[in-house]
Amino acid sequence: MAMRIAISDCLLGIPARYDGGTKPCPAVILLSRQPGVEVVHVCPETAAGLPVPRPPAEHRDGRVVFADGTDVTEAFERGSAACLERVLAAGVDFAVLKAKSPSCGAWMIHDGTFTGGLVDGWGTFAAMLRDAGVPVFTEEDVERAVAFAQRGESCDDSFLPLVCKALGLL
Ligand code: SF4
Repeated sequence: MAMRIAISDCLLGIPARYDGGTKPCPAVILLSRQPGVEVVHVCPETAAGLPVPRPPAEHRDGRVVFADGTDVTEAFERGSAACLERVLAAGVDFAVLKAKSPSCGAWMIHDGTFTGGLVDGWGTFAAMLRDAGVPVFTEEDVERAVAFAQRGESCDDSFLPLVCKALGLL
């Protein structure tokens, strides 16, 4: 039985980030390429029609704003809702998203000052997934994602030892 994982495009090497770049994560790419894994690609910001590149955005006072103060909350919510619909329709087992992103960050995001500071919080899309009951991990705790997968009934035992070995867990 296939394991479906929603993964942030930028973690897979796709240049979708605000600065036109990408953030490929070897462990996440390895996980995505294992037999029995089906990837559901997500990028809420490009799904909203925002261009690449685009200005950096952060959460501030309950809104999402570009560095120049432009309010882009509606676009972030629209793109996140579109990705959420696809993810739920696919029936993903869990998600691995880009840490600290205003869309994809989980547990901790940038603090709205555009100075690199962090605060407890969730990106717009990550929060929607969480509220829909989808387990959310980031590339910073991909080991926990693999451990979660090992416990899941949909787990294909053939690939997890390979991933665990690559991550130094075996
Ligand atoms: S919205 Fe998410 S997937 Fe898209 S570039 Fe930003 S962090 Fe990556």
